[in-house]
Amino acid sequence: MAYKIKNDCNGCGACEPECPHAAIREGDVIYVIDTEKCTECVGSYPSSKCAEVCPVGAPAPDPRHKETKEQLLEKWCRIHPGETPKVF
Ligand code: SF4
Ligand code: SF4
Repeated sequence: MAYKIKNDCNGCGACEPECPHAAIREGDVIYVIDTEKCTECVGSYPSSKCAEVCPVGAPAPDPRHKETKEQLLEKWCRIHPGETPKVF
């Protein structure tokens, strides 16, 4: 399931450099996540980096973008062709 940044975001920018897929960018009001690139950190880290570093708990799973672990790993492989995802 891709993550989404909730309106609680204060725009601090701490999450942006932590994403292994450069899926986070500054939006007009709050930071936003590209669902096509977010794997919930599956394949890169044991837990979601953006949620870990956010001081206000703004990143959260987006129920409108439900994906299985297998689908998230397939997405990871599309983003990193020729590389092998980490399994935790
Ligand atoms: S959950 Fe991971 S892959 Fe998704 S936006 Fe956050 S840091 Fe990036
Ligand atoms: S770390 Fe949290 S508060 Fe800071 S920009 Fe990212 S989502 Fe917003």
